[in-house]
Amino acid sequence: MKKLLSICALSFSAMLLVACTSTNESVNAQTCNSGNVILTADFAAGRMDECKALGNSEYLITLKPENTPINSSPWYAFKIQAEQPTTIKVTMIVKGNKHRYLPKISPDGLNWKLQSHKLNGKRLIMDIDASQNAVYISAQEIIDNQYYVDWAKTLQNKMKVSYDVLGKSTQGRPIYKIESKSNSKEWIVVLGRQHPPEITGALALFPFVETLLEDTTLAKQFREKYNVLVIPNINPDGVFMGNWRHNANGLDLNRDWIDFSQPETQHINNYLKSLVAQGQKIKFAIDFHSTPHDVFYTMPVNYGIEEPYFVKHWLGHLDKAMPNFNVVLQPGNTPNNGVSKQYFADNFNVHAITYEVGDETNRESIKVIAKNASTVLMQTMLSNTDHNKE
Ligand SMILES: [Zn+2]
Repeated sequence: MKKLLSICALSFSAMLLVACTSTNESVNAQTCNSGNVILTADFAAGRMDECKALGNSEYLITLKPENTPINSSPWYAFKIQAEQPTTIKVTMIVKGNKHRYLPKISPDGLNWKLQSHKLNGKRLIMDIDASQNAVYISAQEIIDNQYYVDWAKTLQNKMKVSYDVLGKSTQGRPIYKIESKSNSKEWIVVLGRQHPPEITGALALFPFVETLLEDTTLAKQFREKYNVLVIPNINPDGVFMGNWRHNANGLDLNRDWIDFSQPETQHINNYLKSLVAQGQKIKFAIDFHSTPHDVFYTMPVNYGIEEPYFVKHWLGHLDKAMPNFNVVLQPGNTPNNGVSKQYFADNFNVHAITYEVGDETNRESIKVIAKNASTVLMQTMLSNTDHNKE
């Protein structure tokens, strides 16, 4: 757990003024201030665990995980501003671990490009032009909790969906659900952001869901036959704090789908079980994540769940529909480790997949693949093909 820290409001007038006020939000609000230049992480999803000014134009940032042991996915996001234009050198090291994400730069927190850098052993070194116009440097695009709220509201303005709080996180943040509901009793479930830094998974979830909820004949037919439940941001505390992987209790939520020791997974399990208790059926689930390369983790065809060839058919069609994209399907059975995919198979006797997007997969490709995956999924779920046979 993080201590209550001060949030500092910065002002660049004749002299650099730093005014600090206390807040209830706990932020990893490290600030490096060497007179002309200031580096700070005092915003939602911001993080640079330690920052040291080594003179006027050189900075050393040390990244540290929320707790250990942990999968090595060091997250960082900070803002740089200078009273007088100057070029600074920033070196980032990871305590006890190695870098995973290539640095990105943005003038506004919305538009990003790769930041040039050198990897010198464990040191990631960047030269950055600083001026009065702040720039953001981040491990990936910053998609904070507010981003999901704005996205859901845009969906709601365009489409007939409900948008409600499913429950509260460990630190009391809302976990939202978006639903499209017809007279059907069958559901497909879309999950995201169990792991906060896995941004490319989020970048795929958005177009995937938008395609399911579109005003096309296919999507309308699909939504007549299937209800859609989307829980796009399961770990809002981890997202806010810029955690590498865990929730506010230092636990990996995607290992908690047997024990349900955490409020985040409990809310989802309780809700799904309540649907089933009302005679509804969970038909399929997709959980969005990121890893070094695009891959779909699936349940094996011989696992004994219903329509054993359904996922193979779907992803086979996707592979054919996208000649320039190699669909990699990796079936696996991992009993007792508490991942969501296995939870759906074991509790509802249906397929589920972990949709893994490469960390540095081209952002335009992520959209195109996700849109196609969604379209082909709807076609496959509406077709009369027998998924009991290869
Ligand atoms: Zn993950």
